[in-house]
Amino acid sequence: MTDETLKTMVADVASSYFEHSHVSPDDIAAVISTIASSLAAVTTGGGVTPQKEEGQSSPKPVVGIRASVRPDSVACLLCGQRHKTLRRHLRTAHDLEPRQYRELFGLKPGYPITAPAYSEARSALAKELGLGHRAAAAKAKGKGANGRKARPPSSAAPTPTE
Ligand SMILES: [Zn+2]
Repeated sequence: MTDETLKTMVADVASSYFEHSHVSPDDIAAVISTIASSLAAVTTGGGVTPQKEEGQSSPKPVVGIRASVRPDSVACLLCGQRHKTLRRHLRTAHDLEPRQYRELFGLKPGYPITAPAYSEARSALAKELGLGHRAAAAKAKGKGANGRKARPPSSAAPTPTE
């Protein structure tokens, strides 16, 4: 049901109503708004669409919600673009916050805005960096004890002095 259709219907109903009744000009607005809200209630609540939808029409996802999530990317349900994270895309391309985006499509709180592999990679990277720090520190210590020789730790070379 488009706004245009609704307007036409309101106009039709109103004109036939005004033809048969004496409405004072002051009441015309009230009559029309009554007709409009009755029609709107009928057309949106009348079971035209079997799915439960809030009054305003929500956009249809261009990608299936399930298909939109891949380990390495998440597709924007509004335009189908794939991104590692939709956060920035939603803001720049659609002027939406992730919360509004979820509401728009009725997405579950668990629906990833950021590709699962990407967030995993990031936490893995963070871990690696943390470990790297420790490894580097250990290496530095070893270097100090062994002089300035750089040897891979797995080297099977015989220890020169012990
Ligand atoms: Zn998009």
